[in-house]
Amino acid sequence: MGTAVSTSDGANLPDSGVLYVVATPIGNLNDISARATQVLSSVDAIACEDTRHTGKLLRHLAIRITSPRQLLALHQHNEREQIPKLISRLQAGESIALVSDAGTPLVSDPGFQLVRAARDVGVTIIPVPGACAAIAALSVAGLPSDRFVFEGFPPSKAGERREHFRSLRAESRTIIFYEAPHRVIASLRAMAEEFGPDRAAVVARELTKRFETVRAGGLQELADWLAGDPVQQQGEFVIVIHGATTVRQAQDTEGERVLRILLASLPVSQAADLAAAISGAGRRTLYQRALALRAESEESDQ
Ligand code: SAM
Repeated sequence: MGTAVSTSDGANLPDSGVLYVVATPIGNLNDISARATQVLSSVDAIACEDTRHTGKLLRHLAIRITSPRQLLALHQHNEREQIPKLISRLQAGESIALVSDAGTPLVSDPGFQLVRAARDVGVTIIPVPGACAAIAALSVAGLPSDRFVFEGFPPSKAGERREHFRSLRAESRTIIFYEAPHRVIASLRAMAEEFGPDRAAVVARELTKRFETVRAGGLQELADWLAGDPVQQQGEFVIVIHGATTVRQAQDTEGERVLRILLASLPVSQAADLAAAISGAGRRTLYQRALALRAESEESDQ
């Protein structure tokens, strides 16, 4: 059974039957907190995405694993079958730490099902906060940080991705995305088309690591910069985008939304007229857009 773990105010918490959700570094191993180290060395078991990956972190922290029951894999392919076993261990009084490969578990990482199951049966769940790439990027982006939305990874298919960005055109809060290195240029290009080429953004790459790069600029400029520098295309990326600021941006988005509805039952010209009148967006732009949408839908019907 694990030993009691101190909270930041010094009070001792019951150590038995607790699920600790522990953040680990996103690159620089020194970013592990003293409290995370204390929890990882005192729990009965650690549930992690990849036992080899977490094994390295534990060796760095000089935490010894002596039995297979102490380190077990919990990933998207086995979360469902592992949950009942973990819940019964928690209910039997064992303490368990949940970690992911990097950063905060559940943030574009597994763990949600386990935390929900633990909450459903009344297990005590304690967060041990630490690194999170989205928050680290936001903290250095220099974009409004009072209100923001975390969008995680955009859809991997080009058409769905573009549609997803389009649905966010009028979002006025700062938007944070994760993106894989082999899709980052395509995503930035699609973002430039949907949010506008000059929309302010920041690409945060390899945060806390040796080749950390944080670059600010318009979306098109950032896409061109990355496309022109193969070295910068490697690694891990967060993209932070300024929210929509102008009435015009919001009107354009609303215009597009209304146009799509009207196009289902009206001719192009009439749909564009009405969408412009309802939304305040420019009639000419909506007309061009209506022609493109009609052509797209005719193509997909063939
Ligand atoms: N749970 C993690 C967190 O708290 O940030 C995120 C895990 S998600 C599977 C991995 C993605 O997070 C990467 O593809 C990248 O978009 C982002 N990421 C993780 N580490 C990063 C780093 N050091 N620099 C930039 N982005 C990072």
